[in-house]
Amino acid sequence: MFDAHCHPTDTPDTLDLIPSMKTDLLACMSTNFQDIERVESIADWPKVVPCFGYHPWFTWKVYTEEGLEAKEHYSRVLAGPRGSEEELQGFVASQEQPMPFSNYLDLMRQGLEKYPNGMIGEAGLDKPFRVKDKEGDKLTPFRVSLDHQRTILGLQLQLAVDYGRPISLHGVQCHGALLECVTEILKKNPGKPLTVCLHSYSGPPDFLVGWFKLEGSKKKPTKVRVFVSVSSVITCGHIDREGDRFDQKLEKISPLLAKIPDDRLLIESDYYKAGPVMDDLMQEVLDLVAHAKGVSKAGALEMLDKNSREFLDYRRE
Ligand SMILES: [Zn+2]
Repeated sequence: MFDAHCHPTDTPDTLDLIPSMKTDLLACMSTNFQDIERVESIADWPKVVPCFGYHPWFTWKVYTEEGLEAKEHYSRVLAGPRGSEEELQGFVASQEQPMPFSNYLDLMRQGLEKYPNGMIGEAGLDKPFRVKDKEGDKLTPFRVSLDHQRTILGLQLQLAVDYGRPISLHGVQCHGALLECVTEILKKNPGKPLTVCLHSYSGPPDFLVGWFKLEGSKKKPTKVRVFVSVSSVITCGHIDREGDRFDQKLEKISPLLAKIPDDRLLIESDYYKAGPVMDDLMQEVLDLVAHAKGVSKAGALEMLDKNSREFLDYRRE
């Protein structure tokens, strides 16, 4: 079984549990400068697919435009609700200097070159999220401008094309913009292959039609492949795991599963700790898929294994 999206490095002291997990293969995402080092430290473990990427939640800390003062950078990339000028001043004063995103792209390139089994992730767009304060426990009034997020995403999509690796994409409340970014990259790189995984897809199920159009028609296929990955935690809307909630989850996930072709479905835990809970979340989402598709668990597993092999076929070269 392949976990198409997880964050075990969020809890470093659980990493030692990875070798004894039931899940065979874990796409371990990286999200920022600190995290990419942790992912690199487990990159050659047999169960790990190392993923090199920069998460939208941290995009305000990096710049692509040289020569701006920290305050100028922050006031450009932070969008409304902006808070007062005073709050902005206070926020900027509490922050470290922003980092050039080119430094991060170098780290991603190094990882992709060193690990031919590595892919790209997590990257994407997130409209509603709010920046946290320096201690990381309180929300500030600031959001990150979508333009800035798009720039950071575009650079990572280009790496996915350049290196021929899949990319795991995060999208919250800006599904149109995410599709636009991918469409733009394909226009810039005509005829080039690109494999994307829409992780914990939360958009309207009908909207997926637009994504699958990128694959072309049966007669005239493109070299684009769009996989959609579902999780119990996110896709089912954070329904409590305790008690008899399986039916509620099934109700929530079924309309989405109905819109994903059988050969384009992946599953994930999206969990922040390695170990038994991550394994349990994979079993739960497997169960949900089997129920929704009306097949046995073994049948669902066979289908998902086939899809994982296709998704990961860049590793065979
Ligand atoms: Zn994630």
